[in-house]
Amino acid sequence: MKRRLRALYWRGILVTLAMALAATAVAAKLKIDDTRVHLTAMLQAATRWTVDSNDDLQTLADAIAGVSPQIRVTFLLDSGLVLADSAAGADAGADHYADREIAAARRGEVGRSLRMSGTSATLVLYMARRVSPQLILRLSYPVLGVARIVAAYGAALLALALALYMLQRRAIARFAGDQRRQLEDVRRLLDGELERVDAVFPEYQPSLDAIAYRARRLREDREEVLRTMNLREDFVANASHELRSPLTSVRGYAELLEQGMADTPEERALCLETIRGECDRMLAVIDDILRLSRAERAGGGCAPIPAAPVAREVRRALLPRAAKRGIAIELAGEGSVPMPEKDLWEVLYNLMDNAVRYGREGGSVRVALSEGDIVMEDDGVGIDPEHVGHIFEQFYRVDDTRDAAPGGTGLGLSIVRTIVERCGGAVRVQSAPGKGSRFEVGFEGTRE
Ligand code: ADP
Repeated sequence: MKRRLRALYWRGILVTLAMALAATAVAAKLKIDDTRVHLTAMLQAATRWTVDSNDDLQTLADAIAGVSPQIRVTFLLDSGLVLADSAAGADAGADHYADREIAAARRGEVGRSLRMSGTSATLVLYMARRVSPQLILRLSYPVLGVARIVAAYGAALLALALALYMLQRRAIARFAGDQRRQLEDVRRLLDGELERVDAVFPEYQPSLDAIAYRARRLREDREEVLRTMNLREDFVANASHELRSPLTSVRGYAELLEQGMADTPEERALCLETIRGECDRMLAVIDDILRLSRAERAGGGCAPIPAAPVAREVRRALLPRAAKRGIAIELAGEGSVPMPEKDLWEVLYNLMDNAVRYGREGGSVRVALSEGDIVMEDDGVGIDPEHVGHIFEQFYRVDDTRDAAPGGTGLGLSIVRTIVERCGGAVRVQSAPGKGSRFEVGFEGTRE
């Protein structure tokens, strides 16, 4: 990243330098063109002057040179021999035969050449032409401005390159730091240490918000999956345990019979009765597991239906058991609850069944119905506060030994809660040990 940025910056600097160089070249060319126009005009004037003059060549050269302070005037023969020079002695003895402007003048053209002067180490524009059959006139003019321009531009370019270099170093360092911090923030976001990341560049914000949203969703989904997995594991362990105890018992009694250890017909009958009882218990557990699984999966809507007819049916089904314990079941009120009929039957049956099972002998069970609400009260054993928070857990039984009517699987209230919550309601319980319990199934939204 840093290398790519640096390459980008260098490219920028090179382009800037190239443009500055081009600007320098254009400025220099303009200056040279300017000098050339000036020198061409001077050459024409000097030619006329030479042709018309009777002065000796040195006087003439000095006179022409006097017109413009920096101009140098030289008269030469075709051979390159200098006859007169306004800057006499400057390059005495130099051979000018091969100079490009002299060669051109020999051919009858106006010769021109731009080169460094050997004597003054400056850039000089030379122009020459023939003024008579033997004589060549050469003017030269230092293009001093160009050197100044190049020097000034060169210095400016150096300063610019330096400034750009410093700027790019700082910018890259800051940019890289920002990026590092941003990535670190994203890492913390994914680890759940941050809820939101503020983008260094505003255009990143929507993407970072999307990442934050997905990270949150993934975390929630993961927790949900883990919770479900734990529940499943607990369920399998509990269900195996619930089935294992009666099976062990069945096996034990079967072995007794097999080995002829039950001698009398009464003992054999007892063994068989126990085996049947344990089988019933396993069947009850399996039935409840199936009911719970159906309650979890059941689809369909939760349209409100009148609760009283279903409650009457459940009461009728439980009357024999209630009668056995001398318990009266009282139904009061009307109202509808949002639940499929089969599920409502299941909820009422489990609650009423518990109320009868854990109710006081000779006591009563009261069921009060109203709109979106079912209240079930008994005056039985009640539940200790330490257990109240657990009774809706799968396979949770408060105390196996105290069951007045053994056979409870510990799944009844789980089934009730699963169904009620699936339909948007809640189950609440209040209980006082020795006094009785009160279960309330409520649907806030449907109440008036
Ligand atoms: P079970 O099938 O054993 O009745 P439940 O899930 O229906 O299982 O109930 C869990 C436990 O809650 C029961 O073992 C029982 O101890 C307690 N319980 C439920 N209803 C009542 C009640 N009306 N009075 C007293 N205890 C109750």
